[in-house]
Amino acid sequence: MNLLDVAPSEAQQLIATWVAARGEPAYRARQIFPWLWQRPVASWEDATDLPSSTVAALGQAAPIPRLQLDTRQTSSDGTVKFLWRLPDGSSVESVLIPEGRRRTLCISSQVGCAFGCVFCATGRMGFTRNLDPWEIAAQLRELRLMPDFEKPTNVVFMGMGEPLHNWKAVDTALTILNDPSGLGIGARHITVSTVGIIPNLARLAARPEQFRLAISLHAATSELRASLMPVERKYALDHLIPALSAFSRRVTFEYVMIENVNDSRENAATLAQLARQVGALVNLLPLHPGGAPGFNTSPPADIKRFARWLRDLGVRVTVRRSRGMDISAACGQLRVERETESASRPRMTVTSNSN
Ligand code: SAH
Ligand code: SF4
Repeated sequence: MNLLDVAPSEAQQLIATWVAARGEPAYRARQIFPWLWQRPVASWEDATDLPSSTVAALGQAAPIPRLQLDTRQTSSDGTVKFLWRLPDGSSVESVLIPEGRRRTLCISSQVGCAFGCVFCATGRMGFTRNLDPWEIAAQLRELRLMPDFEKPTNVVFMGMGEPLHNWKAVDTALTILNDPSGLGIGARHITVSTVGIIPNLARLAARPEQFRLAISLHAATSELRASLMPVERKYALDHLIPALSAFSRRVTFEYVMIENVNDSRENAATLAQLARQVGALVNLLPLHPGGAPGFNTSPPADIKRFARWLRDLGVRVTVRRSRGMDISAACGQLRVERETESASRPRMTVTSNSN
């Protein structure tokens, strides 16, 4: 049994059945359950209110699966990047971004990514496999097991992988993250970022919780978008935009600023049209280096000017500060860096194998 790989309500039932089959009192199930997510333990031995015979039996029947912390790097701006080793030896990253009272954890949904956006380091790795629900949610659970981190307040699916290309697992992981008997992060504090896999967008929208949706747009014409994001050939703007207009929820457009590629006044005008159509907030991001040889970020002044053009056209805009630049804490870059053993990047605090 993997009690972490199912929705908390299902885990509760599995535990109740298991407890009953062992002839233990029913309250035992209520003792076991909170150790999964609410007061997570590293192993059943740490579940202090359980008799040792139950601990031993649980260890046999339902061992707690773990992610191994491979590397942890802390940026000068407080951003922390974690590289997790999965049971099959592959690895993914999460990034913790503190900002005022907010602590946002950026998590991965796949090992690699099949979508090949030209500016993205994860895209360049190609696709290895989907994460299981527990592997997604455990990126937060493992933090809860470390004494030096407070619980994140927000979760964004902006690490490695395309969450709507792994909908089944992400669907369950969303429940675990949000459920008060799971990790208890409010739905409005959980953002799914996607290139726009239209059929699964509808499945996400059909969930009653108010999860936030971010669409990686990056270009407002089909031609330009197709040159940056191959997915445009399958799920084109012509279909994506009407699908988004049909949502009752607020949508954010992610727009990475690439110098001389998508940062002209004309680009701003076409983008403004789409944003107004959908009622979207536009989030401008500097391009992180390392994802794409041959592309540069638009300089800060140009990003500001682009934001002003959009605002003048009646669009709500935020400009995201680049975080964790010194540890290349963007989309899948840690793994790329390790695999190419690049020595040229500044080395920050690196803690190995600390769990
Ligand atoms: N696959 C999903 C979620 C993971 S990527 C998606 O694409 O939305 C998370 C965000 O990082 C996306 O908006 C993505 O476009 C952006 N991103 C990828 N490479 C980047 C880079 N080099 N610099 C800045 N943002 C990047
Ligand atoms: Fe995949 Fe998102 Fe990177 Fe595109 S930007 S390659 S969809 S992870």
